[in-house]
Amino acid sequence: MKEHLTGSGRTKFTLEEKDMPTSWYNILADLPFQMAPPLNPKTMEPVTPEELASIFPTAVIEQEVSKQPAIDIPGEVLDIYRLWRPTPLVRARRLEQALGTPAKVYFKYEGTSPVGSHKPNTAVAQAYYNKKEGVRRLSTETGAGQWGSALSMACAFFGLECIVYMVKASYHQKPYRRSLMQTFGAHVIPSPSNSTASGRAILAKDPESPGSLGIAISEAVEDTNKHPGTRYSLGSVLNHVLMHQTIIGLEARRQMELAGDTPDTIVACAGGGSNFGGLVFPFLEPVLKRAKNAKESVPEGLHSSPNIIAVEPEACPTLTKGLYTYDYGDCAGKVPALKMHTLGHDFVPPGFHAGGLRYHGMSPIISALLHEGFISARAVKQLAVFEAAELFARTEGILPAPESAHAIRTAIDLAIESKESGKGQVILFGLSGHGYFDMTAYEEYRNGLLKDIIYPQSEIDKTLSTLVKKERFDCCRPLSPGKEG
Ligand SMILES: *Cc1c(COP(=O)(O)O)cnc(C)c1O
Repeated sequence: MKEHLTGSGRTKFTLEEKDMPTSWYNILADLPFQMAPPLNPKTMEPVTPEELASIFPTAVIEQEVSKQPAIDIPGEVLDIYRLWRPTPLVRARRLEQALGTPAKVYFKYEGTSPVGSHKPNTAVAQAYYNKKEGVRRLSTETGAGQWGSALSMACAFFGLECIVYMVKASYHQKPYRRSLMQTFGAHVIPSPSNSTASGRAILAKDPESPGSLGIAISEAVEDTNKHPGTRYSLGSVLNHVLMHQTIIGLEARRQMELAGDTPDTIVACAGGGSNFGGLVFPFLEPVLKRAKNAKESVPEGLHSSPNIIAVEPEACPTLTKGLYTYDYGDCAGKVPALKMHTLGHDFVPPGFHAGGLRYHGMSPIISALLHEGFISARAVKQLAVFEAAELFARTEGILPAPESAHAIRTAIDLAIESKESGKGQVILFGLSGHGYFDMTAYEEYRNGLLKDIIYPQSEIDKTLSTLVKKERFDCCRPLSPGKEG
């Protein structure tokens, strides 16, 4: 373990390769409550592992439901992780100084991966398990292109074909992300497309549809079912994805020890929840274990140490305004229904610049942790996010992904609160990626072309009422026995 010294004190806390964690943390082993099972979208009965076998490899299905606390990271995956891991933990001293705060602000930086985000942590693992089980081709969807680039790279490493349904609006607005995927050898199709029945159905209704993640997922799953030797891969939301991302928090826990500090508050942005879960789950481990041992009588205040905050855009307020209920993960109802915070599966988000935070649903584990009071959530406005991103770039020299800048905004707000109250605190936030492919957004911000978009409550009510009427999941099948009353 190395500590890099600078004139003003230690800034960067780097682990040696040999100190990199060799297993992922499985939070399912420690949850002090029951998770509601995924349901078959047709029968509304809990899905069986056999039903999932047509879209996922066996190893991934096992991980999705495993209660084993630690799962070994395969050697071949570790070898690839070592191309960029362990990633740095940095004390943002220059940002602290600019804010004049007594708070200590740390960030864990995942933008040092080859594609510039945390996403390869699971892409590499998923490509590995598929390859091992004889799969030849992986099908997926991508919004802004970050997940698509991560999976394209992983498929190139393992010699798999990769097909990516890219939300049409992004396909045209982000030509360089598309080009990166194609450089890795992937086949990229703008969604909705004519290649699938779900794509054609959307185009028949609206030939100009800009697409959505929900639509692209339906297309990718349909493609999987139609082509032999193909499996589907998802970049967020599901339990196994969040588990693969825990390498972030496991490293950060050791690095915080090196720094000699314990975080009072941990902040990360949440789209489907994978970078958030990856960073915070290892820090929640002791809290959950205590709660589990305490059984019925959970002492007051136990839930709130450390204070853990998920941040989302006001334009896609899944955790702060969505309903906690069963909903489909995609638009056409082809993938299992999950109990989660949702804005409705036909939600098409307004155009704002954080492509990775535009999904209608949320990880079921994170939804349940919020419901049970172990974490909290905040929504922030777009202009304030870019203002924070710019300050961060000017003080720390890293141009953040607009998604990650949601976490920066909140970390800055907390540091300012510290200044006002005069109480120092240790803040850790997740910097999930860099924003060097998002220069158009930065340019629009500087030219005053960006607006604050707040998804109107009336729209939310409308979508949610159709969701409840159409599906009535909660009314006909109360799950999570004893919890929902
Ligand atoms: C995809 C992405 C996100 C959002 O996805 P999560 O699964 O919620 O982490 C956030 N930041 C970056 C940089 C991303 O690429």
